[in-house]
Amino acid sequence: MDIHGENEFKIKSYSNAAYTLDKLTEPVVDMSPSQLFAIRGIGEAIGKKIQEIIETKRLSILDEYIQKTPPGILEMLKIKGLGPKKIVTIWKELEIESIGELLYACEENRLVKYKGFGEKTQKNIQEALEFYLHHQGNYLYEQVENLANNLQQNLQDAFPNDTHIISGAFKRQMEWLGFLDIVTTLSEDNLVSWLSAKLFKIEKNENYFTCKGEDNFEIRWHLTPTENFFWKDFTLSCDPAFLNAWEKLPHFKMEAFKSEDAIFEQVNVHYIPASQRELPEIIGKAATKPLSKTIQPSDIKGIIHSHSTWSDGIHTIEQMAIAAKEQGYEYLIISDHSKSAFYANGLQADRIIAQHKEIDALNKKLAPFVIFKSIESDILNDGSLDYPDEVLASFDIVIASVHSNLKMTEEKAMMRLIRAICNPYTSILGHPTGRLLLSRKGYPVNHDEIIEACAEHNVVIELNAHPRRLDMDWRFIQKAIESDVLISIDPDAHAIEGYKDCKYGVLVAQKAGLTAANNLSSFSLAEMMEFIEYQQAKRG
Ligand SMILES: [Zn+2]
Ligand SMILES: [Zn+2]
Repeated sequence: MDIHGENEFKIKSYSNAAYTLDKLTEPVVDMSPSQLFAIRGIGEAIGKKIQEIIETKRLSILDEYIQKTPPGILEMLKIKGLGPKKIVTIWKELEIESIGELLYACEENRLVKYKGFGEKTQKNIQEALEFYLHHQGNYLYEQVENLANNLQQNLQDAFPNDTHIISGAFKRQMEWLGFLDIVTTLSEDNLVSWLSAKLFKIEKNENYFTCKGEDNFEIRWHLTPTENFFWKDFTLSCDPAFLNAWEKLPHFKMEAFKSEDAIFEQVNVHYIPASQRELPEIIGKAATKPLSKTIQPSDIKGIIHSHSTWSDGIHTIEQMAIAAKEQGYEYLIISDHSKSAFYANGLQADRIIAQHKEIDALNKKLAPFVIFKSIESDILNDGSLDYPDEVLASFDIVIASVHSNLKMTEEKAMMRLIRAICNPYTSILGHPTGRLLLSRKGYPVNHDEIIEACAEHNVVIELNAHPRRLDMDWRFIQKAIESDVLISIDPDAHAIEGYKDCKYGVLVAQKAGLTAANNLSSFSLAEMMEFIEYQQAKRG
């Protein structure tokens, strides 16, 4: 509507309604029309549109707008930094209608001639476009998880006499995927007729078949005779460097492996799960003794890093706590946003006192379950935390995170982070790079230096388990373990549903061989209390 120059108030009412819907805790499908229309920020006119969506699964007014907008213009809405106003200029004045053309115009320095586009803006748009094109067709692990599991199940049901396995990046538990690999003993005829019945378009490549789903997500079908099945799956489910090293092992020879285990038995190496088939060095480790048992989802004993209605969360502390208790967790660490995060309703000092009173009362009610007092304190531009020491002292745990001025050099980022790590009130460094997978790169950091500083100052590094963050990157976890730095798999939950994200943190942590002993959120309640005592002693 913005792009088509509609009435501002009309636009605002839709946008308010969308915001209100997003924050509702009950499904609108269960509401009567009068209940729906009575919700503040929805009203009758938009309420009727919501009913239309519920009944027809469509919204005709939206369809009309989409109809009269070129697809390339719609695509531009996905580009970071391109709002409706800029898109209108690009479309109507520059007469550009596709992402490719727009990138070219940036390279040609053509945007700067138009109102609202300085040199800096043009550069930012160009970078965002390059990033977008590079990641197009890629999906987060969490986004393809259901598809992968359903596909495996449907194949098994349709062809029980064949063998099928989801392999490749999915089996390796990568944080995002460009395509899904399936190894199957199906014949070409069977596959083609099965997929055609589902209206998939199939293409034949040199080594595999591909088909693409609705979202342009590619599925690769590796049709393999039974005698080759396990080896094919193995080759697809390890890093190329790992595979290369494997094929050079003294006892390795190609044969018809009867199982995955047989591949390991042949070369006298203990089992290495697909998630850990990354660096070749692990083969040597597994040759001498079995690998340590990596962390499992059931090893998460408490919820660390969660928000409530006190800042930008959806559920109250009580709701969050009861849910955590019911799900078998021993404690909940509530860390709402701090005062600098005004956009997230961050806590001013007086509200902290009130929040702590509420937590004290809840702790009496919910014992032996414990809610700990925490804060996600903003790391300011100069690296300081955004409360005076006496306020910081009122928390059991302080998580320090960067949320502002993310565009910075490595030098600047490191100055801020190291100062925050040196602060004796900091117990956990939150999402260390600020990255958002497939959409924001995060500021540049030197992981080795961060790990060294955390080791020196007894600071835990968070592995933010939100599937779009998974930050810190698992590739640096091994180094942290070697330096005796604890990792903390935290869901950064903004609602009860967020707890389930712990699993995605665990899956990538397994890739790095993280054990429960090296993970703070696997501490029992007693161990957590000890940890807090130890952290408080640090404050002097
Ligand atoms: Zn944060
Ligand atoms: Zn947070």
